[in-house]
Amino acid sequence: MRYLITGGAGFIGSHLAEHLLASGHEVVALDDLSTGTLDNLSTVSNHGAFRFVRGSVTDVAAIESAMAGVDAVFHMAAAVGVFTILDKTLDSLRTNLHGTENMLEAARKRDVPILVASTSEIYGKNTAHGLTEDADRIIGSPLKNRWSYAEAKALDETFAYLYSQEHDLRTVIVRPFNTVGPRQTGRYGMVVPRFVTQALAGQPITVFGDGQQTRCFCHVLDVVPALVALLSDSSAYGQVFNLGSTEQTTISQLAERVISATGSSSTIVKIPYEEAYGDGYEDMQRRIPDCTKAFDQVGFSPRRTLDDIIAAVIADRRVRVGR
Ligand code: UDP
Repeated sequence: MRYLITGGAGFIGSHLAEHLLASGHEVVALDDLSTGTLDNLSTVSNHGAFRFVRGSVTDVAAIESAMAGVDAVFHMAAAVGVFTILDKTLDSLRTNLHGTENMLEAARKRDVPILVASTSEIYGKNTAHGLTEDADRIIGSPLKNRWSYAEAKALDETFAYLYSQEHDLRTVIVRPFNTVGPRQTGRYGMVVPRFVTQALAGQPITVFGDGQQTRCFCHVLDVVPALVALLSDSSAYGQVFNLGSTEQTTISQLAERVISATGSSSTIVKIPYEEAYGDGYEDMQRRIPDCTKAFDQVGFSPRRTLDDIIAAVIADRRVRVGR
């Protein structure tokens, strides 16, 4: 199979490229390198079955070039990270909305299956213990910039769903919950690489808010095989699947665990949300997935713990700092 991965130079996309190449497939990566990097592709860039196309999913000509001979598409490209969304809100909205529409249209023209990466952010402030795929979305005001990411991704899902209903396009939607692992950068907001980088540098660990908000972090290497299994499974088409871990931690506990795992002398500082993200920011206080559906469909069952994740991110960051 020849797969196109949009966002192939990104954190999840690059792991997916490695996985597909190791399974004997061909991979084309389309990426505009806005947050992804060629460094993420260093393990695959010389592989004979790999091709890189630099370009944006908002550029139809770049998409056309990348789509040549492709049998299936993983649409992972997006403007990601809370800092990116708050810094470049309009650009991010355009990329996340029009980019997905472009990819769905390109897949429709060639009648190839496409997996669309959505996000657990679409649930917004729903703090239910175990969010199932049909759980309600509780979203703040459209004038609060944070929500534009969730709004765009929710509309992406609707686009994908309607393409499957009205055009018989083979689509799968996934909602990853706080995927973490090697290569993820903290530059755009993601908390685990930020805490690890701060701890390794002996800098204060910046906990935003009171630190009692919780998240469930899932290792990227547990997520990637599920993406492949879902796009290969015709009975998954037209459906949406949560992908995440159910091991919950508060952000304060996460900070303590990172300090202990690195042996760092860092202190923990609490920073009010307004200072971290600007006025009017709303955070999710809890976000726990129910992944029964993905388990029933493709046996999705993450086996790496939060300690494994922290250890993997520390090892990765140590190599990068030492470079
Ligand atoms: N967070 C934090 N310090 C940081 C970065 C993030 O306390 O330096 C918090 C953030 O406010 C949120 C949680 O960590 O409550 C997860 O943030 P992230 O951006 O990784 O993911 P998301 O908010 O999308 O779940």
